[in-house]
Amino acid sequence: PADVETLGRSTWTLLHSIAATYPKTPSVSQQSDLKTFMGVFSRLYPCWVCAEDFQRYMEKDHIQVGSRDEFGKWLCEAHNAVNVKLGKNTFDCSKWEERWRTGWKD
Ligand code: FAD
Repeated sequence: PADVETLGRSTWTLLHSIAATYPKTPSVSQQSDLKTFMGVFSRLYPCWVCAEDFQRYMEKDHIQVGSRDEFGKWLCEAHNAVNVKLGKNTFDCSKWEERWRTGWKD
């Protein structure tokens, strides 16, 4: 349905933007905040089938919060897993920062 798609696009924007502004060398408490946020997010996301699959994804592919690059790549892979499930093209994760932080060069 359209609202699942609109919600999805807005949510990916928020999540990738959080990755883009996450520190390169996060403190212990920043790492713990991000883990807590993503855990709670995966339980509250208001598309229940999406949330259930995302929780399962997080159980097998543990979240990486050690640096901006680690989290950004982890999130990109998580988004790609959803892309695959929905039959969409996967995104080249070496370009996540260009897309979400520094902007495309063209
Ligand atoms: P989106 O997938 O919303 O992506 C937005 C933009 O992000 C793209 O235009 C592209 O520029 C960029 N992008 C694409 N892939 C990546 C990547 N891997 N890394 C970085 N940037 C990227 N929908 C369902 O129907 N079923 C589900 O089970 C489902 N689960 C979801 C789980 C989560 C956690 C979230 C946030 C969304 C989920 N959605 C689900 C919604 C779905 O992922 C899409 O958001 C929605 O289908 C709209 O897709 P879109 O093609 O507009 O682009």
